[in-house]
Amino acid sequence: MNKPHEPNSWEARAMANVMAGFTDFPTLHERGPMILTHGKGVRLYDTAGRDYLDANSGLWNVVCGWDHEGLIEAMVAQTRRFPAYHAFFGRMADTSVELSEKLIEVSPFATGRVFFTNSGSEANDTMVKMLWMMNRAEGKPERRKIITRINSYHGVTAVSASMTGKPYNEHFGLPLPGFLHADCPHYWRFGEEGESEAEFTARMARNLEELIEREGPETIAGFFAEPVMGAGGVIPPSKGYFEAIQPVLKRHGIPFISDEVICGFGRTGAVWGAETYGIEPDAIIASKALTCGFMPLGAVILGDAFAERMQAAAEKIEEFPHGFTSSGHPVACAVGLKAIEIILEEGLLANVRMISPYFMKRLNALADHPLGGEARGIGLMGALEVVAEKATKTPFDGALSVSERIANACLDQGLICRPLGQAVVLCPPFIMDETLLDEMFDKLETALDKVAEGLKA
Ligand SMILES: *Cc1c(COP(=O)(O)O)cnc(C)c1O
Repeated sequence: MNKPHEPNSWEARAMANVMAGFTDFPTLHERGPMILTHGKGVRLYDTAGRDYLDANSGLWNVVCGWDHEGLIEAMVAQTRRFPAYHAFFGRMADTSVELSEKLIEVSPFATGRVFFTNSGSEANDTMVKMLWMMNRAEGKPERRKIITRINSYHGVTAVSASMTGKPYNEHFGLPLPGFLHADCPHYWRFGEEGESEAEFTARMARNLEELIEREGPETIAGFFAEPVMGAGGVIPPSKGYFEAIQPVLKRHGIPFISDEVICGFGRTGAVWGAETYGIEPDAIIASKALTCGFMPLGAVILGDAFAERMQAAAEKIEEFPHGFTSSGHPVACAVGLKAIEIILEEGLLANVRMISPYFMKRLNALADHPLGGEARGIGLMGALEVVAEKATKTPFDGALSVSERIANACLDQGLICRPLGQAVVLCPPFIMDETLLDEMFDKLETALDKVAEGLKA
């Protein structure tokens, strides 16, 4: 059933002219698109004047709310002074130098080098090209394969979609050859009958090692992982996972690239997810909260060793033939500098640490709801996975679209939260407090009750 829209309404114009991405079309046809006009603090407003508490920080990125004066001022001031430039031919904006320096300062690396992109996908893509170029320059052209994990999300360009471990990429004939997917370390879902979490973690590491040996360690260029899988459904690793797999990678000389597009800048309660999980990365991929979502910007942050090897590879052919027209865009970089200041120095990260225990307490309580399967999360990111039968963790029939129903029931309550598989995702802005968290969870609980009732009927 297609929802009828007033001719010339925002909804009708959107339906006629916009190719919507990552949108459930049955839901779109039934409910119509939501056209938003502005935001204030943690709330968004649509063309009908309705307001919504956004439990998803836009798409994980708008962590400081929609009207942060400091960010707006930084953007306006930079736009007046120097609104656009590139980073080719040895020329670059002063602001991009400042942000590169700042990113290395806040990174786990003593020294390093930064390359700017416009998005997380482009940053992952860039990192893969860097690995390929370094290995070729060092006489190891066969070292090209990339390992990521099932359910990981690394983006949508042909390379970063190949890295992403989600089945929808089959529709594009992806992954490209040479992109391998190791196990997803989700104990609750993939732990076997009678297997302890420690045994599960050991199996993850063993399987990874087998994969590496089967493919040939000398053919593998790098391992990319999100410290906590985000778009795969907020999946924190099983206990001891990174401690178990890092020695395997080291043993085979495989670099570890931490995709911190979601975890970076505070989401897990530390600056980096790598810090939260004791990961020692060779490089970091950043985006999303890097500008609090106010401008598009991604960054590859190379650690000491990579920076040196990459520089040497480029010197050899006298350049690094790569770059986007807007790499190092001065306005994006100015916003990035301000965002880092706001998050790290003006108390946003401290606030995440302060409210996270309450967030986790209310999240964990959702597991007791009749629909609740697993409540999982860390810092200020969480998910509730629903099940048809608790004891056996049996998922609902996909045709019931239960998580879509929950997200829609949330919208009816004035709450935006995202359905993901059979889970709903919560990743509210860092400016939340306990009162707003109560409002968020109360609305979600009401929505869960309504959906549970509807399922019974
Ligand atoms: C969002 C995301 C990306 C892709 O970033 P885009 O800016 O959407 O291209 C890559 N990796 C992770 C972990 C992400 O969450």
